[in-house]
Amino acid sequence: MKIHQNISLKDHNYWKIGGEAKYFCEPTSLEDIIKAITFATAHSIPFIVIGRGSNLLFDSNGVNGLIIKIGEAFSNFEFSANKLICQAGAWVPGLARNSVFKNLSGLEHTIGIPCTVGGLVHMNGGSLRKNIGENIEKVIVLNTDDLTVNTLYNKDCQFQYRSSIFLKKKNLIILEIHILLQPIISSKEKHEEMLGILKNRSAKFPRKQPNCGSVFLSSPDLYQAHGAPGAIIEDLGLKGISIGGARVSKKHANFIINEGDASSSDVINLIKYIAKTAKERKQITLKSEVLYISPEGDKICITNL
Ligand SMILES: Cc1cc2nc3c(=O)[nH]c(=O)nc-3n(C[C@H](O)[C@H](O)[C@H](O)COP(=O)(O)OP(=O)(O)OC[C@H]3O[C@@H](n4cnc5c(N)ncnc54)[C@H](O)[C@@H]3O)c2cc1C
Repeated sequence: MKIHQNISLKDHNYWKIGGEAKYFCEPTSLEDIIKAITFATAHSIPFIVIGRGSNLLFDSNGVNGLIIKIGEAFSNFEFSANKLICQAGAWVPGLARNSVFKNLSGLEHTIGIPCTVGGLVHMNGGSLRKNIGENIEKVIVLNTDDLTVNTLYNKDCQFQYRSSIFLKKKNLIILEIHILLQPIISSKEKHEEMLGILKNRSAKFPRKQPNCGSVFLSSPDLYQAHGAPGAIIEDLGLKGISIGGARVSKKHANFIINEGDASSSDVINLIKYIAKTAKERKQITLKSEVLYISPEGDKICITNL
């Protein structure tokens, strides 16, 4: 595995924002991942694991560390009876489609989420009120403190709404995921269901301009008390406002789009402005779902900055 230098991060996240990573690699095996960690330790620099960068904001000044991208190069998967066993870099919509081809159901809700399965498990993502955690049997992880490989069963993963042990513990790299699916007789209806989901998403969400999906976390409690973040932002009259090159989407207020030349500061300032306005005017606490990667390699919830 080659460790590259001075790689633009714009090509590795959906906002297309970010300076250069001092070092960058794409492991193809566990041995490569261990080599990458050993390299970072030897150079006294931080390492940051990423998937498709669909939930990340890189600083426009880049990252003075090693980016370990667990993506296409680490994305094998296979079916065993009603189980899907996949490497962390596997592409989620592909897994959903392949499962239905195999007459196995359970991942249809993820068809429109443009990410790796490792990234999805990390935040227990999903859609249509479902979470990937519901289908997880076990997750194989590398503990970066002692370089041991361990198995976490579903209950060990502490899955909660858009949360898991992987968000809390920074020393676990997800390597392999075992997903339990339900056998179905015919895949036709499930294919139609997935097409419907995709159609619905493309009608609701901005598709053309770079964005990172939902910016603020929606939770059942927030939803019950005040509604979805998009509706809250719209009620505040903030739909369509912009700072620099970052704009609240006119199509869906919980999306921020990069109009072409947005910097990380533009996005951060816009997110903080929305959160501050919601707090001051409606006493609502909005929490950013997207994580910011600082030049020092720290991963920070943007509303905590
Ligand atoms: C257009 C669009 C629509 C979206 N819709 C949805 C949606 O409907 N539902 C939803 O839940 N999300 C949605 N998202 C957000 C995003 O896709 C998810 O948060 C996804 O889980 C992030 O995966 P990723 O591979 O892109 O990870 P990244 O964004 O690269 O990383 C996210 C976090 O996961 C960690 N991580 C990634 N891989 C690993 C690994 N192997 N081991 C340990 N940690 C790892 C990273 O360190 C980082 O902290 C959407 C995003 C976009 C751009």
